[in-house]
Amino acid sequence: MNQKEELMNKIVSLCKRRGFIFQGSEIYGGLSGIFDYGPYGVELRHNIKQYFWKKFISDREDVYGMSAAILMPASVWDASGHTSEAGLVDPLVECKICHERVRADQPEAIVEHEAKHKKEKVEWSEPKVFNLLVETKLGASEETSKKVYLRGEVTQGVHVNFKNILDSMHPKIPFGIGQIGKAFRNEITPRDFLFRQREFEQMELQFYIKPEESEGKKWFEYWKQFAWEWYLGLGFKEENLRFRQHAEDERAHYAKDAWDIEYNTPFAGWKEAWGIHHRADWDLKRHSEYSNEDLSYFDEESKSKFIPWDIECSGGVDRAVLFVLLEAYTEDEMGGEKRVYLKLKPEIAPVKVAVFPLLKNKPELVKKAREVYEMIRKEISMVTFDDNGNIGKRYRRQDEIGTPFCVTIDFQTLEDETVTVRDRDTGEQKRIQIKELAQLFQP
Ligand code: ATP
Repeated sequence: MNQKEELMNKIVSLCKRRGFIFQGSEIYGGLSGIFDYGPYGVELRHNIKQYFWKKFISDREDVYGMSAAILMPASVWDASGHTSEAGLVDPLVECKICHERVRADQPEAIVEHEAKHKKEKVEWSEPKVFNLLVETKLGASEETSKKVYLRGEVTQGVHVNFKNILDSMHPKIPFGIGQIGKAFRNEITPRDFLFRQREFEQMELQFYIKPEESEGKKWFEYWKQFAWEWYLGLGFKEENLRFRQHAEDERAHYAKDAWDIEYNTPFAGWKEAWGIHHRADWDLKRHSEYSNEDLSYFDEESKSKFIPWDIECSGGVDRAVLFVLLEAYTEDEMGGEKRVYLKLKPEIAPVKVAVFPLLKNKPELVKKAREVYEMIRKEISMVTFDDNGNIGKRYRRQDEIGTPFCVTIDFQTLEDETVTVRDRDTGEQKRIQIKELAQLFQP
């Protein structure tokens, strides 16, 4: 195992050991490509989603939030092209020795598979397309039930509600609709922990503009930069992110332009974190045709009617969680001992502050520590109280989950109402007045 693969293994094991992320249904042997989030993982994921919601939706006058259902009829996916051969389907090749299928567009999966057949040379079939949508049935009986799909992307839930938003909110163009939600894809080779899952979450914005080339260029550039700043704001070093424009034969046939923000992963180099796509009028036009509803917009100013163009920002929530963890994982030496810590931005750290009594068996210290804990909890959420083990062990536990500050109540506290505040990254401790604490931790 090389150093880079080792880092991924360390993250996976930290996530399990410290209650971030577990293999889905693990006690039953696990389900491939499915993961469950534990108490700290769900907080980290929630904080990333909140940050998206705030910047892309609630802080803006020109964007509405919404939440569409996961189950959608087959006609939605016929319209969007997901069920057709030309649509969002992956090419697969089949190994002629063992008949396992892998994605033809993932060279690493092919190399990995060939390595399994050490003694034989693998021959591959011609690539075939495979529909990634997960289907189920709804209805009272086997005979009358109807096929529905678990959505393969959250995008379509927005487009099918375009008319509802127009009729209820009367937005003025340009405007956007954003949502966060689960998506499901029957990925043939789920791999690399949260990177390629079968059930995952997406955060997206569809921004509708006038169908004019100059508007398209202006807004595409605007959202490209906006998404870049947002992603950097999660705490990445700039050199670990880059833009990549899709080549013409790589992007969907209807897309006028497409760029990815990529992260330099330790497991496979540069990989997609986020996409900015110029989808033009593809989705609304198709849904108009398939639903027989008029999905055009009437512009009061120019007294003209048109189907708007759509600039899409689309990011994976779980991929952001994984990349943030990879970026934050740090090993160093402190007090002559090796330690591991997550250098998370305080805004997204699962626990903001940990409060400890120096000694567990001194009731006066425990009482005071509980008082301080309750006081901070009134001001900010996600504060934790810990009196387990010695103080060094408690620091190590908090470092591993990325808690930015630890507050310790000791004998001096009982005399002068000061506590020590330890900084996660430097290990430095400062004495601070209790009454100044709440302000220190305000985001
Ligand atoms: P890829 O080429 O990696 O399969 P994609 O181009 O199909 O991804 P999109 O359809 O553009 O991805 O989805 C938008 C975002 O959703 C991606 O940028 C990614 O962050 C996330 N995403 C897509 N597929 C998965 C998956 N299987 N597991 C986790 N996140 C995913």
